[in-house]
Order: sequence, then structure tokens, then C-alpha cells
Amino acid sequence: MKKYPMIGSTYKHKKNNCAKCRCGEIGRYKVEIRYNYMRGDDEVEWACEEHKKDLDFLTTVPPAPNKVAR
Ligand SMILES: [Zn+2]
Repeated sequence: MKKYPMIGSTYKHKKNNCAKCRCGEIGRYKVEIRYNYMRGDDEVEWACEEHKKDLDFLTTVPPAPNKVAR
């Protein structure tokens, strides 16, 4: 049996410079979070290097305000 939620695939996006991790850092990784066996229910979170494998952090911490510095 698989345990949900779980981290699915993680994709690196070097050029991203606006989507943020929940800690406020720029999220260089796009992380799939699977809530059940149905792929249609997957959510995608942006995460920094430090949090890309931190499921608790990505599912419980509220998103950082998405302020884009110009
Ligand atoms: Zn982070």
C-alpha cells in the first residue's frame, strides 16, 4: 500500500524566477504532490532546493505571499 500524500515527480526549472517556495525562496523545482491514486488529483507546488523533498513543509505551511521584486 502506498501512503498519501506523497511526493511524485520533481522537475528542475532553472529559469524560474517568480514562482516561490512556501518559505519565500524562489522555487527552482516543480514538485508533484499526490493525494491519492488518481493522477487527476495531483497538486503541483514550487519548492526550493531545501524543501523539494519536504512533504510536511509543502503540505502544511501556507504559501508565501507571491510578491515579485521588480
Ligand atoms: Zn523552501
